[in-house]
Amino acid sequence: MPRLSEFLGGPQLWVKRDDLTGLAFGGNKTRKLEFLLAEAQAHGARTLITAGAIQSNHCRQTAAAAARYGLDCILVLTGEPPEQNSGNFLLDQLLGADIVWSPPADRDRKLEEVFNDAWQGGMRPYLIPYGGSNAVGASAYAFAMEELLSQGMRPDWVVFPSSSGGTQAGLVVGGKQYAFSGKILGISVDKPKEGLADTVLRLAFSVGECLKAKLDIREQDVLVNDDFLGAGYGVMGPAEREALQLFARTEGLLLDPVYTGKAGAGLISLVRSGYFRKDDVVLFWHTGGTPALFAEAYTRLI
Ligand SMILES: *Cc1c(COP(=O)(O)O)cnc(C)c1O
Repeated sequence: MPRLSEFLGGPQLWVKRDDLTGLAFGGNKTRKLEFLLAEAQAHGARTLITAGAIQSNHCRQTAAAAARYGLDCILVLTGEPPEQNSGNFLLDQLLGADIVWSPPADRDRKLEEVFNDAWQGGMRPYLIPYGGSNAVGASAYAFAMEELLSQGMRPDWVVFPSSSGGTQAGLVVGGKQYAFSGKILGISVDKPKEGLADTVLRLAFSVGECLKAKLDIREQDVLVNDDFLGAGYGVMGPAEREALQLFARTEGLLLDPVYTGKAGAGLISLVRSGYFRKDDVVLFWHTGGTPALFAEAYTRLI
């Protein structure tokens, strides 16, 4: 991102475009789904079931993956049906997913109920956890790290938004497996750092096991910054807005209001505060999410 690097007067900034992973507007969940779908197929599944927020990128990519492989899809979304369809929720419907609504406090129970009903109804359901973040899904990001290194990139830093921890856990495992010497920094979009770092570490252990890799993964391999939570998950404030505008106007790159907008704001702030060295190479891993730009809640704010 030469123009953004120059504008900020900081280190060399690069971007890895997982907003272009290709499945109905792409995103990081597409990599995870590649592995989850293989498991679903191996089990002879006929229906994918998952859950998330109304503007969940994970749900939209799951609906697209189901369509692509001829499976049915049920999404358990938290909240109530909105007055207007927009963003990811509009795409969920276009992609043919069945939607079930659940009050936030009740969603685990609802998900279980939907799964049991589908099982009893002979739909051969396969349950995908929130954000696709179990060992199988997260292992996709160990391979993504291999891909990055095979592209000849050796950044000093990899920076990206982190939430359910799968992306970060996979990158940490891949970093160990392929002797990546840079630092892997997750910008939390919704959780205090201790809790998220703990989730990532435990998930990284199970990814290691899943890949049958004996790796020396430690607490200090998991770097989380929670200084950029702003007004909370999904809330777009001045910092996120500036990040969206700067990436768009210097590079023609679109961030999203919920994840990459926060991580982008974090990256900009860290560059400005001199956190990186001038001769560092910093790679921003774009995890997708751009359909949320067209969610009704954000169009007025952007
Ligand atoms: C889900 C998501 C994330 C967070 O990834 P995790 O693996 O859940 O930590 C980041 N960015 C976007 C756009 C997402 O949809």
